[in-house]
Amino acid sequence: MECEVCGKPIFGRPLRVVIEGSEMKTCNSCAKFGEVREIQSPQQQKQVRKRSYHKPKQEHIPDVVGDYNDVIRKTREKNGLTQEELGLIINEKASVINRLESKRMSPSISLAKKLERALEIKLLEESEESSPGEFKKGENAELTIGDIIKVKKKG
Ligand SMILES: [Zn+2]
Repeated sequence: MECEVCGKPIFGRPLRVVIEGSEMKTCNSCAKFGEVREIQSPQQQKQVRKRSYHKPKQEHIPDVVGDYNDVIRKTREKNGLTQEELGLIINEKASVINRLESKRMSPSISLAKKLERALEIKLLEESEESSPGEFKKGENAELTIGDIIKVKKKG
């Protein structure tokens, strides 16, 4: 393989360079005479494809906290409720509460939300990803002291 511009032998892969509208295969030093077209090896193409899938757009699904079983049990006991009573409040069987508290079952999002409301606890954690538009409440939105404290606490 020889460079189509200078005629020198090219070791390795020639560069595809567009010079005055026509594509040439050139050596490294002649590439500067035109616009280099990206040559991707199959390996690189794979990486590019992977990268584009890196951040799929999906609805944010909150995670249930890891110690949900303790949180539920402790709060229930603190409020003097039996598993049956808590079950009645959230319209679930006592066996469901039992399985949650012994961590044999993880709550669904809707069940976790019911428990959060009933016991005034936090079972779902939002992701820590902060969006830049988070504090944009309106066109002329300004940060209040409350917002600043919130930001400080976050960090
Ligand atoms: Zn050359």
